[in-house]
Amino acid sequence: MQQHTTCPYCGVGCGVAATIENGVMTGVEGDRAHPANYGRLCVKGSALHETLGDRGRLLAPRVDGREVSWDDALDQVATRLAAVRDEHGGQAIAGYLSGQLLTEDYYAANKLFKGFLGSPHLDTNSRLCMASAVAGYKRAFGADAVPCNYEDLEEAELVVLVGSNLAWNHPVLFQRLRTAKQRNPLMRVVVIDPRVTDTCEIADLYLPIAPGSDARLFNGLLAFMADKGRHDTRYLRRHTRGVEEALAAARAEDTSLAALAEACDVDAEALETFYYWFASQLHVVTLYSQGINQSTSGTDKCNAIINCHLAGGKLGLPGAGPFSITGQPNAMGGREVGGLANQLAAHMDYHTPGAQALVKAFWDAPHLPEEPGLKAVELFAAVERGEIRALWIMATNPVVSLPDADQVKRALAACPLVIVSECMADTDTLAYADIVLPATSWSEKDGTVTNSERRISRQRGMLPPPGEARHDWWIIAQVAKYLGYEEAFEYRHPRDIFVEHARLSGYGNHAGGIPRLFDISALSDLDRNAYDALVPLQWPVTAEAPQGTARLFETGRFATPDGLARLVPVRPALPEQAVEARYPLCLNSGRVRDQWHTMTRTARAPRLLNHRAEPYVDIHPQDARAHALVDGGLARVFNRWGEARVRVRVATSQRRGDVFIPIHWNAQFTGAGRVGTLFAPLTDPLSGQPETKHGAVACEPL
Ligand code: SF4
Repeated sequence: MQQHTTCPYCGVGCGVAATIENGVMTGVEGDRAHPANYGRLCVKGSALHETLGDRGRLLAPRVDGREVSWDDALDQVATRLAAVRDEHGGQAIAGYLSGQLLTEDYYAANKLFKGFLGSPHLDTNSRLCMASAVAGYKRAFGADAVPCNYEDLEEAELVVLVGSNLAWNHPVLFQRLRTAKQRNPLMRVVVIDPRVTDTCEIADLYLPIAPGSDARLFNGLLAFMADKGRHDTRYLRRHTRGVEEALAAARAEDTSLAALAEACDVDAEALETFYYWFASQLHVVTLYSQGINQSTSGTDKCNAIINCHLAGGKLGLPGAGPFSITGQPNAMGGREVGGLANQLAAHMDYHTPGAQALVKAFWDAPHLPEEPGLKAVELFAAVERGEIRALWIMATNPVVSLPDADQVKRALAACPLVIVSECMADTDTLAYADIVLPATSWSEKDGTVTNSERRISRQRGMLPPPGEARHDWWIIAQVAKYLGYEEAFEYRHPRDIFVEHARLSGYGNHAGGIPRLFDISALSDLDRNAYDALVPLQWPVTAEAPQGTARLFETGRFATPDGLARLVPVRPALPEQAVEARYPLCLNSGRVRDQWHTMTRTARAPRLLNHRAEPYVDIHPQDARAHALVDGGLARVFNRWGEARVRVRVATSQRRGDVFIPIHWNAQFTGAGRVGTLFAPLTDPLSGQPETKHGAVACEPL
């Protein structure tokens, strides 16, 4: 029997057809009808069935190291959370969630923490992934709204990939782009990245940009377009504000090609070619990802890109737009429900006019914080300072994934109450848990996720949970009941949560006079059968657009109070973690093709380890010589924050002076490759996203 679901890995959100025989998943293939992938899967997705099974799973709740019943565990969670709240207030409680959770889990957690525990401190590992893209879209469009879709990528005349190794990190989208390029020989692809990656295979032009110089490059493009008469003055006049200020900021630095080429460390002729191509085509998609977002000036970089699209009128059209692609399967679903600490719910912020009263009334909530909470990095700092006294972590492994990862260890060790909901029995973070709650995983749970093109898809439960594992939404609702909030959390099925979420998305949708873009209220009447049969749809899904909305801003009206988009003045800033004599190499980090996050799932499929079997550092041959490193040898990479011990790969794909270490490895696998220990806890002041593409390290042979 085949059942249809969605891949739990990257933000492409591919549909998966899984074959179940005698209660076992025996194979997977791409869902031919799913609009994200039309039957394709990458190597990770095609190995999904090989990662399943009870081995290594967390099978029972534990309190203070002792296995207990669910009743005891829930009672302990509720009693201890209530004690912290009664003694220290809701501000002393925090939650740290994950883009791996389903939207229904996220919704229930957000409602419990913000509406009932009175804590604003609910953040998510999506903060590490796309928080800067969110902030950039909000500044430009008045809403966190991705304007494009995957077809736009195929219909474009020019695709610019910046800060994205699409071939490894969003492989099916890369396959779609490559096929589109083969079909349309006139399509051009430009890759802008400090590293030569597999994505360069399809590049007509490659700019090996100096790390951190993206904003300067796009500011230069904005000025170039103006100089060549390529601003769409009609579009700018009718639909935008701020072009003069944005242009003045761009021109505050030398915008001659020679100066820009020097600042970005690229060939001036190649830079001019890129500028001409961008300026002369209307159907341009700029696709950007963590190479832009994971920076202390990530939001500005996003706006520098969006400025160029607005200036040329290159959005709201087929094959055009600034397209942020998310890393995780449900990074966008978390944003929809308010899973970031600066959000309230249903794409409303704390300071959206009327939003607090609206959400409080909708939830009939006893509490609602008045101000946003702490974002991931500052949240863990507050835990270490003793300001947060109870922390509930769900479906993520911050001891590996956050910057200054050893600080996370210290924070968790100092926290009086650490609750961890987790699928796997052995993660670095579980070692610090007072209460451990076994959660269900992909193929066991029902719910929805939203991919990078705003498409809501169903994940479907097909296999029985192992041991005592329970769904995250159920655990949250049960804790709420033990706290006395039974009525507000009377959910029997994820469908009940989804329709409440859909109702809230349209509830008082014109509060403050500005319609919210995120509206799926046409889905608020789904019964169980209709929810089970839900087909993938792109939000907004409203009475006027019941089949969803493929592209945003086609009318040129944006979600700002006056309906005009904003060009934002961007003053390029250098990365804050600068190299210095003691730490002379610039550290970049990212994923490898066949692994996912901290490998708790993908490492279970042996064939996925064939691609890269151990943690490593890529280093340019001349740097390797200068640091006495040999290909295949071992290196200690270190700085004042920590160290990692990794295999050396001498690689001409690296620029001189730059090294690259993947993010995946952790104590469970080697004990030595945690790249998170090497990044300072520095963040973008607007988005709170940490800078994990630019550290400063030294290397020596082991
Ligand atoms: Fe899964 Fe992403 Fe691969 Fe698609 S491209 S199969 S969503 S990992």
